[in-house]
Amino acid sequence: MELWVTEYQTPSLGFSCKATQTLRTEQTQYQHLAVVETEQFGRMLLLDGMVQTTEKDEWVYHEMITQVALNAHPNPQQILIIGGGDGGTLREVVRHPGVVKGTLVEIDDRVVEASRDFFPELCRAFSDPKAEVVIRDGIEYIKERRACFDVVIVDSTEPVGPAVQLFSAEFYQNVFAALKEDGMLVAQSESPFFNADVIKMAYTGIKQAFPIAELYLASIPTYPSGLWSFTVGSKVHDPRLPLMAYEQACKYYNSQIHEAAFKLPGFVSRIIED
Ligand code: SAM
Repeated sequence: MELWVTEYQTPSLGFSCKATQTLRTEQTQYQHLAVVETEQFGRMLLLDGMVQTTEKDEWVYHEMITQVALNAHPNPQQILIIGGGDGGTLREVVRHPGVVKGTLVEIDDRVVEASRDFFPELCRAFSDPKAEVVIRDGIEYIKERRACFDVVIVDSTEPVGPAVQLFSAEFYQNVFAALKEDGMLVAQSESPFFNADVIKMAYTGIKQAFPIAELYLASIPTYPSGLWSFTVGSKVHDPRLPLMAYEQACKYYNSQIHEAAFKLPGFVSRIIED
């Protein structure tokens, strides 16, 4: 008998991977969590049936959500990640040479535990001396911070359940207040093919809060449609310009990719132009 895991990316489209083993399934306080061993992508973490990360392609997402802002900011020392409990974004943050401290604020401790148990390449940052892991709602955490971060990264789930508010205009204004005077925000903003409404919501909210707002893209095989977007808000620095391009250990990110990622196909430009 064969075992297949399917994410229903839309009501009419399923993305299926042949699995060899189910390593964990549980209902946490916030979401359904599963870890499965797949033949194509290695270990896969799913939350509420949606692929969050896999061993074989995690580096595209984690490099691109982190290295663009960290290389466009001239002095990225204090970094906050909201969400990202698998640890992949934290790994990218702490290995950047300029970073002094990377704080991860994840609402669900079971995601952190699943990473510790099954994703050695992602969880190694948890024990890095530059890293701090806080189990808390990022929406509440950010409200209590003022002018203390150089870069805030929102590595959230889709805008359902506890992540809904992470896409709101009020949240982006709170991030603005938590950033230093030349700070930058980057948020994952879903697929331009399937989630134009989410991109529009994120971009509009970020543009209201920040003087500079830009969208960029990356190709991620296991995410819906394979084309993924990120939205940056910046107080001063142009996020499209790689100042430093720390790319030695990267597999996807480099300075050419940094600049090219902001060149948008017409249908994507139109999502944010209207
Ligand atoms: N790369 C992924 C994607 O785009 O599918 C996201 C990965 S990461 C596992 C997302 C994390 O955001 C989850 O672990 C979830 O628990 C966390 N999260 C959702 N809402 C949150 C909130 N309000 N505060 C902190 N963490 C939150």
